[in-house]
Parts: sequence; C-alpha cells; structure tokens
Amino acid sequence: VFGLGNKTYEHYNEVAKYVDKRMEELGATRVFELGLGDDDANIEEDFITWKDRFWPAVCEFFGIESTGEDVSVRQYKLTEHEEVNHDRVYTGEVARLHSLKNQRPPFDAKNPFLAKIKVNRELHKSGDRSCMHIEFDIEGSKMRYETGDHVAVYPQNNKALVNRLGELLGVNLDTVFTLTNTDEESSKKHPFPCPCSYRTALTYYIDIACNPRTHIIKELIDYTKDPKDQEHLKLMSSTSTEGKQLFSKWVTQDNRNIVHILEDLPTCRPALDHLCELLPRLQPRYYSISSSPKVYPNTVHVTAVLVEYETPTGRTNKGVATTWLAAKKPKDDTEPPVVPIFIRRSQF
Ligand SMILES: Cc1cc2nc3c(=O)[nH]c(=O)nc-3n(C[C@H](O)[C@H](O)[C@H](O)COP(=O)(O)OP(=O)(O)OC[C@H]3O[C@@H](n4cnc5c(N)ncnc54)[C@H](O)[C@@H]3O)c2cc1C
Repeated sequence: VFGLGNKTYEHYNEVAKYVDKRMEELGATRVFELGLGDDDANIEEDFITWKDRFWPAVCEFFGIESTGEDVSVRQYKLTEHEEVNHDRVYTGEVARLHSLKNQRPPFDAKNPFLAKIKVNRELHKSGDRSCMHIEFDIEGSKMRYETGDHVAVYPQNNKALVNRLGELLGVNLDTVFTLTNTDEESSKKHPFPCPCSYRTALTYYIDIACNPRTHIIKELIDYTKDPKDQEHLKLMSSTSTEGKQLFSKWVTQDNRNIVHILEDLPTCRPALDHLCELLPRLQPRYYSISSSPKVYPNTVHVTAVLVEYETPTGRTNKGVATTWLAAKKPKDDTEPPVVPIFIRRSQF
C-alpha cells in the first residue's frame, strides 16, 4: 500500500494506514512496508524512493528475476491525420465537441460557461505589482453562487511559449493528431479531447509552463544525443541524494519549464506527441468570489494578482491564467472578451 496524502491535513494518509492495518489484521501476508507520500513536500520523490525498494521485495517474494532494466512503455498510440474533417476536430472544448459554440446548461467543470468579461481594471494606483478586479457576466447561464464560492477559469497557455515549443521541436503545430490508449479496456481512451491539432493540445490541454516531474526528465534521456546532457538528465532522474539535489536546483529552484529545458539542452529533442502524453493536463484556476449574490446575482467578481517573476536563469515566467486574463480587457467598440468558467461550491 502506498498512500497519497498531505501533512498539512489533520488525518494524514489515514486511509492508506487503515487499509494497510486492516489487511494485516485480516491475515494478509506482508510483502513490503506501507509507503506514505506527502504532497506538502515532494510526493513523487517519496513514491520513487519507496518503489525502488518495493519491486526488489516483490521479485524476491514471488521468486521472479528482475531484468534490472527500466523499460518505458508508451501508454498511447499516435495517429497523425492527413485528411481532416474539421467539424470533428476539438478546438479547446473540455469534453463535448462544439460545447463552446453551442452552449447548453447545466454548466459545470466538464461543460464550462463562456462568460463575457464586463470589467477588468487595475486596483493598484502605482508600483510594479498588479492586481485585477474582474467582473464575469453570468446572465442567462442559470449558474448561481453563494458567498464563499469559487469561480474556476480555464486558461490558455501563452501563444509565444506554444510557438517556441513547436519551433524547438521542428513540428508543424497545425498537424491534427489523436493519441489512443493502447489498453483497449481502459475507460480513458485519450489523454485529452482528440483529434485536435498540436497547437490546440499545447494551448488548451497540456501544462507546458510547469516544472516537469522526474519521470518526464527520465523519458528525455533517450531523446538526447550529447552524452554529457544524457548524464545530467540521468542524474536528475535518479534517486541518489546528489540526483535529488540536482533536480531540486536545476528544475525546481531555477524554475525551468519544458521549453527552458529544451533551450538549455540543445541536443534533447523529444517527440512532441510523447510530451503531450507525459506532461500533466492544464488545470482550471480558482478564484474566490468577491461579490455578493444579493447585490450582483448576474455578475461574479474576482480579485486576481498578476503572477510574473524573474527566474535564477534570467528568464521571466508569467502566470498562465493571470497573464491571459490581464490581456482580456473589454473595449467599447468591440464584443467583450469571453472566458470559460464554472462555479465551485464552497466546501466550508
Ligand atoms: C480555492 C482557491 C482560491 C483562490 N483564490 C484566489 C484569488 O481570489 N485571487 C488570486 O489572485 N488567486 C487565487 N487563487 C490562486 C489562483 O487559483 C492561481 O493559482 C493564481 O492566479 C496563479 O495562477 P496562474 O495560472 O496565473 O499562475 P501559474 O502559471 O499557475 O503559476 C503560479 C506558480 O508560479 C510559481 N511562482 C509564482 N510566483 C513566484 C515567484 N515569485 N518565484 C518563484 N515561483 C513563483 C509558483 O510555483 C506558483 O504556484 C486561489 C486558489 C485556490 C485553490
């Protein structure tokens, strides 16, 4: 049993501890000790460290000989479409095809409402920080909100970052493709709505601005030509103390995203479809609603701080959602900008 928890919660990994204990009480034979992952620190590192000892224990228990090789297996099969019926191609929908064009309630996480931005103004009078007051129009959506609820926004990745990734990998981003699960019985046929273009996948579906996790760093090794760069990636994806320290410095503290990694390792050129499989899904961002439903039943107001900072490698990292929202300013003579949103009830 390996539990996924967070030490900041009172009942840290309670279910994993309970399942482990009960199985033992009911007579199960222990093959390996309970593992606990702490998302407040580095949950992936916890898992990898545990897994490195788990498999040898399993092999010994069942009398299996390990080949010692780490074989990476692709979960999804790539199809690039030459003939495309554009009406069947996803263009950023969360789930249902054309759901952003043909809006139908009820609106929720799978079916966000395209809200017009009525107001987007700066709250700071001076200084270099930016804090936006944004008003979303929810009239006609049948969405209601209560004090304390959150509004979730589906952002888009920065166009320049998307183009840079395509340029670094020499890929035509308008190619339409599908990733299909090789496990036919899996309930998850595709990692995100397919078919879509690489541009759509990189803009709407994949988090290209995050610091890649160690398992992604590991997958990059086979795509790297320079032996020195290969060693660098190998060390960072290893579970040695030196490797963990290097990963923490080079990826986390230096705040490198996948584009920065490819820029700094010029012989590392992974297949874009493999990156699309490996990188996490781009997540909606939540904002505390700062308006009262009694006063503003048809608008949702939020206060959002613009994220922008310099990294130790001299780059400027821009927050995905806040940078995207900052550019969405309504103008008198044009249609207001729209943003896919849904409301999440407060848990408190
Ligand atoms: C329930 C809930 C309510 C929230 N309410 C609000 C709200 O009312 N207003 C609001 O502004 N936000 C709120 N947030 C946060 C919001 O959801 C986003 O996380 C935030 O706007 C940043 O999103 P982004 O996409 O712009 O930045 P991202 O692209 O997600 O980047 C943010 C990440 O950048 C890194 N980072 C940021 N600054 C630095 C720095 N100086 N140095 C190094 N790394 C840095 C951090 O890793 C951070 O996690 C809320 C979050 C939750 C979960």
